[in-house]
Amino acid sequence: KKTITRLPEWLKTPIPNGTNYKKIKNDLRGLNLHTVCEEARCPNISDCWGGSSKSAATATIMLMGDTCTRGCRFCSVKTSKAPPPLDPHEPENTAEALKRWGLGYVVLTSVDRDDLLDGGARHFAETIIKIKQKAPTILVEALTGDYAGDLEMVKVVALSGLDVYAHNIETTEALTPFVRDRRATFRQSLEVLRTAKEAKPDLITKTSMMLGLGETESGIWEALRALRESSVDVITFGQYMRPTKRHMPVHEYITPDTFEMWRQRALDMGFLYCASGPLVRSSYKAGEAFIENVLK
Ligand code: SF4
Ligand code: SF4
Repeated sequence: KKTITRLPEWLKTPIPNGTNYKKIKNDLRGLNLHTVCEEARCPNISDCWGGSSKSAATATIMLMGDTCTRGCRFCSVKTSKAPPPLDPHEPENTAEALKRWGLGYVVLTSVDRDDLLDGGARHFAETIIKIKQKAPTILVEALTGDYAGDLEMVKVVALSGLDVYAHNIETTEALTPFVRDRRATFRQSLEVLRTAKEAKPDLITKTSMMLGLGETESGIWEALRALRESSVDVITFGQYMRPTKRHMPVHEYITPDTFEMWRQRALDMGFLYCASGPLVRSSYKAGEAFIENVLK
């Protein structure tokens, strides 16, 4: 079997730079926030943090600890059946830090907490409520898990005052059992997105797919159709990158032209906007995209 070892040119990225990026990095010091951007050494950090203005700058914050109860085959987050308890001060502290930081757009995400009765939904919602109280101008996107199919918990988050509800389907229906934790299913994820939209129709709903896992073109088409039927507004496509040798191998490096083709197709199908490219992650420049496509 062929093993791909060399990265194509388009996946090599420059070292983060830019004044806005440096300023935000300085502001962040001492706030005690854990950004996925820094911890995952995301290659987009200067694009996101150094957006066209600070009001469009985006960062992703991880809530509810660093240990997940699930084990998806593409993900490098630590796994345990019994992660440490939630920090009851986290909603307040996160809101306070974000207010001081003065960022325009925040993506809140979390590990999955199947060990908690509500999957952490109330903690997540409380964090959003506190942010909107302390810093009402920050746009908030929540990137949540599937709450093990408990749609009441999806509603708790959807009605907390956020602007964008994101939940990632990650891959096509056929590949889901080989890519995601066995507790996650493609249909359950569609239900999460549909429920969020029904709970609050003016919410923007959003999802993301990784390409390069061995998915078929017809599988992607079917996923896009199913997402539109569930009224999903926004989709992003990015290249799957293997975090370590213990994770799923990359099946293929998708070319920038193919990413552009899927972006066009998604727009033709009625998605409100679509970010698509080898380095795109679901939160890639989310603030700028929201301002340009939703607020105007
Ligand atoms: Fe942070 Fe997401 Fe942007 Fe990466 S793509 S820098 S994780 S906001
Ligand atoms: Fe990673 Fe999310 Fe899967 Fe947990 S549920 S292993 S954080 S992708």
